[in-house]
Amino acid sequence: MPKFIIINALVFWLLTPVFSRAQTSALLLHPAAVFDGQDLHPGWAVLVEGEKITAAGPAAQLAAPAGARTLELPGLTLLPGLIEGHSHLLLHPYNETSWNDQVLTEPQALRVARATVHAQRTLQAGFTTARDLGTEGAGYADVGLKMAIDQGIIPGPRLLVATRALVATGSYGPHLAAVEDLPQGAQEADGVDGIVRAVREQIGHGADVIKVYADYRWGLNNAPEPTFSQEELTLIVQTARSAGRGVVAHASTAEGMRRATLAGVETIEHGDGGTPEVFRLMKQRGVALCPTVAASDAISRYKGWKKGQGPDPQRIVEKHRAVQAARQAGVMLAMGGDVGVFPHGDNALEMELLVQDYGLTPLEVLRQATSGNARIFHLADRGRIAPGLLADLVAVAGNPTQQVQALRQVRLVLKGGVLYKQP
Ligand SMILES: [Zn+2]
Repeated sequence: MPKFIIINALVFWLLTPVFSRAQTSALLLHPAAVFDGQDLHPGWAVLVEGEKITAAGPAAQLAAPAGARTLELPGLTLLPGLIEGHSHLLLHPYNETSWNDQVLTEPQALRVARATVHAQRTLQAGFTTARDLGTEGAGYADVGLKMAIDQGIIPGPRLLVATRALVATGSYGPHLAAVEDLPQGAQEADGVDGIVRAVREQIGHGADVIKVYADYRWGLNNAPEPTFSQEELTLIVQTARSAGRGVVAHASTAEGMRRATLAGVETIEHGDGGTPEVFRLMKQRGVALCPTVAASDAISRYKGWKKGQGPDPQRIVEKHRAVQAARQAGVMLAMGGDVGVFPHGDNALEMELLVQDYGLTPLEVLRQATSGNARIFHLADRGRIAPGLLADLVAVAGNPTQQVQALRQVRLVLKGGVLYKQP
């Protein structure tokens, strides 16, 4: 019996700490150029010790300590690990299985098993952090997923999780006319007592951020209409904030966006129906927009849209108008694609579309996905390459500050000083 335990322990040791054993005491990275979260620096090198970056600067001036391993990365650009602003690791593309069927018919174990693969693909695509905005009916499974990643059981990005998300009773789905008591994709809560309790429950179960649906398609003929009242939204933000959590709002109507902004949310997701007035209000209050253009693109394609053939669907026309109005008003943009609607690992699609179809520069979207998202999400320990920050680093072939497509050529991924992918 003791022998069995020893052998078991040995097997366990051999199998599990694969990631941590790849950690070196000092690692000198020598790429063609370094994008530090703000600008490109050709000829720079970066020194990593333990889980942190300890030096970054011109290669000639950067002395590595004795015993340091040097990794030559010719032709590659080193970037801060990318930050996904809007993912759903517990969803998979709707053209595989509709959202309704995922929520109503897929067992939670199936959804979690898939999510572990999604987490791995996200990390391999160079996204070392993800803000995961709701389990869509899978309860608190995101909290367990985050624990599995943090404990090194499965590879994946560092997660900020929203757990169940909050919806006003009757406003969300799945919804089948006249069928009562269907499981819902988020937690229903209303009124002073209900809302305070629900926010605190989610925080108690591990929510890093509170997500609220400020509007949804529950109007007549499925028109999007506001859900929570101004008072309810304000109370959600106050309750979350007093526990050190920010609030993000799903909103695509001008009125839902206006109420969410006045309540003090930090980001608004989607924003399709935003007017110049509401974007000016967001700018004034420092609220960022996460436009999720990739989800609109994917849903339109699933409905048969072939880009460039015939007129753009209404959804795409609206999104263009909203992104343009937000930029004109000077609203900060967070980078997040609502990945899960489209395949995990394709996270860079959002950045590609923003450049190819929405007129942003590769440099703008790179800043959004690194230092920008870190600032908006209060992640002071990442998003840039500078001494003292986490060694979350990605190397891609080519120069992504000129060619956004370079983000698809991920050659190296380091998270907390641990190599998960290398040339
Ligand atoms: Zn979403």
